Amino acid sequence: SCIMNRNHLCSNHPFVSSIVSSNSGSSIIPSSLKTLKLDGYLSSDNINHAANDFGNIYHHLPSAILHPKSVSDIASVIKHIFDMGSTSGLTVAARGHGHSLQGQAQAYKGVVINMESLHQEMHFHTGEFPYVDVWAGELWINILHESLKHGLAPKSWTDYLHLTVGGTLSNAGISGQAFRHGPQINNVYQLEVVTGKGELITCSEKQNADLFYGVLGGLGQFGIITRARISLEPAPRMVKWIRVLYSDFSIFTEDQEYLISSQDTFDYIEGFVIINRTGLLNNWRFSFNPKDPLQASHFNSDGKTLFCLEIAKYFNPDETDIVNQKIDMLLSELGYIQSTLFLSEVSYVEFLDRVHISGLKLREKGLWEVPHPWLNLLVPKSKIHNFAKVVFGNILTDSSTGPILIYPANKSKWNNRTSMVTPDEDVFYQVAFLSSAMPSSTGTDGLAYILAQNERILEFCEAANLGVKQYLPHYCTQEAWRTHFGTQWDVFVRRKSTYDPLAILAPGQQIFHKAS
Ligand code: FAD
Repeated sequence: SCIMNRNHLCSNHPFVSSIVSSNSGSSIIPSSLKTLKLDGYLSSDNINHAANDFGNIYHHLPSAILHPKSVSDIASVIKHIFDMGSTSGLTVAARGHGHSLQGQAQAYKGVVINMESLHQEMHFHTGEFPYVDVWAGELWINILHESLKHGLAPKSWTDYLHLTVGGTLSNAGISGQAFRHGPQINNVYQLEVVTGKGELITCSEKQNADLFYGVLGGLGQFGIITRARISLEPAPRMVKWIRVLYSDFSIFTEDQEYLISSQDTFDYIEGFVIINRTGLLNNWRFSFNPKDPLQASHFNSDGKTLFCLEIAKYFNPDETDIVNQKIDMLLSELGYIQSTLFLSEVSYVEFLDRVHISGLKLREKGLWEVPHPWLNLLVPKSKIHNFAKVVFGNILTDSSTGPILIYPANKSKWNNRTSMVTPDEDVFYQVAFLSSAMPSSTGTDGLAYILAQNERILEFCEAANLGVKQYLPHYCTQEAWRTHFGTQWDVFVRRKSTYDPLAILAPGQQIFHKAS
């Protein structure tokens, strides 16, 4: 049902045809499934929310939602659907917190599993290599709060913590700690997975390693993650949170690359682009409470494009003097505009949960539930200047629709055995265009305009052969997916036929299609 327009636009794209699919009231859930004995329940009522996500662009109505109360509920339902064979056409999607952008957690006429309905206690293991065992539907913010009670915390984060473990581990989980610790998928010791055949399998680097690495970054294609063992470290109490501005892109990237190349550096390194404007949408992720660094995003850029380096150093209160010296030393090596140093001191929780607070403000103004045509790219270091020149210089003439993040990561910290694909260079940049579209606007802040702009960026990358990979990838033809995975495509297909041979799982990714 997904005809290619260009590589990245589907026929079920809003401007090609309506993407709202409904069941016309008739459920295709077979009665045998309805009578399965479950600890939780399967329901065809109140299913509308499962046809929406943060992207708010794709809407596919399922037939039913499973509210599991045990792992065996998930295994039983999938096993039953598997045993029905390919003719049933039924698919299954795990839904974490529904923060996908293009319907990835939806299942048209299928079963959506509400992963958040199963709550299980977290189990902490302290000692030399501390970890926590969590349910995959757990939000990272809850893991943070619980871990802190043990003086511990996960090492690698996302910028926003109201996402589930299963959702981010199916992608990568990237933030300003990834240069040092790798993404979240590199900080997991063990998973428990229900495959597309309904088997419950424990996997790790040592046990069922093929499934373990397949599922990490596997876009939900090989199994439903039910539990994860997350690696922890001693948690710092406080954070020095700093922003400095650059007008020269080369100096900005040189400094970023220098900082991520060193062991003795900041604990968090990100950055963003300021294209001649300020405003709520542009600032929402950056609007943090205390005094100073906020000013960085209000900086009057006089029509110029500025680049903001955002860095943080963790510390405990008894280390204040040492940390101040360290920061002064690191900053003295950087080439930012000297008058633009913005620094504040916040608690570790405040720092990690920074985006949530700004999100709440947007919610109050009704600006959270708008369409979000986001585009996330991984750009090889050798191409980042060409990319920036054309994209920030020509394609985007103002950035009024949302923040644009840009920061580098070290490929050596990304385990290349996972399903996640990254550019073929030692250092690559994550560039995130986090746009919000104004409902019913036909102007430059409307959905059609922003999608067309994203398309121009992708077309440029393709034409200039930049070797860019999409993060949170979205394609709707197998040909485009094959190109995305490149040399890893054969392994991906082989894993699919091993663990989900009927293509029951995560149909919203539009990689494989179940016969019906
Ligand atoms: P969902 O949207 O519910 O699911 C995502 C995909 O994973 C679907 O295909 C779903 O079927 C599958 N899935 C969900 N749970 C499981 C499971 N248990 N087992 C198997 N498959 C499963 N990403 C980053 O890396 N860094 C960021 O800083 C970042 N910030 C974000 C900020 C916001 C405001 C938003 C909306 C997204 C952000 N993301 C970020 C992207 C985010 O990581 C992904 O969208 C992620 O998929 C959302 O998690 P979720 O729990 O809502 O998953």
